[in-house]
Amino acid sequence: MRFEGKVALITGAASGIGAATARLMAAEGAAIFAVDIAADKLDAFVTELGGQAVAHVADLSDGDQAEAMIDACIAKFGKLDILVNNAGIGALGKAADLDPAMWRKVIAIDLDAVFLASRKALPHLIAAKGNIVTTASISGMGADYGFAAYNSAKAGVLGLTKNLAIDYAAQGVRVNAVSPGPIDTPLMAHMPAELLAEFGRVTPMGRVGKAEEIAKVIAFVASDDASYLTGQNIAVDGGLTAHTGQPD
Ligand code: NAD
Repeated sequence: MRFEGKVALITGAASGIGAATARLMAAEGAAIFAVDIAADKLDAFVTELGGQAVAHVADLSDGDQAEAMIDACIAKFGKLDILVNNAGIGALGKAADLDPAMWRKVIAIDLDAVFLASRKALPHLIAAKGNIVTTASISGMGADYGFAAYNSAKAGVLGLTKNLAIDYAAQGVRVNAVSPGPIDTPLMAHMPAELLAEFGRVTPMGRVGKAEEIAKVIAFVASDDASYLTGQNIAVDGGLTAHTGQPD
């Protein structure tokens, strides 16, 4: 019960990695403030978690809503111990082909909302000696073909993580990122089956990951088990970023 008495706000909680993280933290005692744009899915998920979760519908492409969710959490629970910035979208497109509106949308959800939620949460996290975990991506560590906006947003998240970590360490707030490799969630489902299989094939462990395998690392990072860990990024990728790319 590592999260007994803790309040965790998790964005993108209705699906994939966010839902797996909410389930795990709730099982270990956390009260979950579950945020997502997908109202019906979120309601069904919160019902599954019973009295331990509260649903809050927000569109994080809107900066006002990204900040307002923190106020709503405080109004509900009176405090915030853990902010999991997890909601994210991808967008295929090389820079020359990418609609600037799509660039803006990806940056708004994947990077701006992380900044806006974090800045609004920090006074509460300082009071609670809490922490922030952001779901970044190995696409922000290296780069993936045809993902100009996503690579850039996730690289920005990694920079912001380090900045927040050093700026608020003295006030007792830890800030870290977890970078998944290819994970079998609805985010990947729009990809052609042969591409999905290829992701598994090029990964040293020979398979894509499961949402629960990321959730366990997010929960570790957010828990007191990681009490001296801040400003770090943990790649959970079946060995993908350890590989130079040269053939076997
Ligand atoms: P997912 O699509 O299953 O879940 C993402 C959730 O975010 C959804 O419930 C969606 O409704 C919500 N969301 C999308 N736009 C939103 C908005 N504007 N406002 C509020 N909520 C919004 O995807 P996932 O794979 O669980 O992704 C979670 C995080 O993990 C994302 O940040 C993603 O970039 C990152 N990630 C995923 C993978 C992967 O392979 N699945 C790899 C690396 C990083």
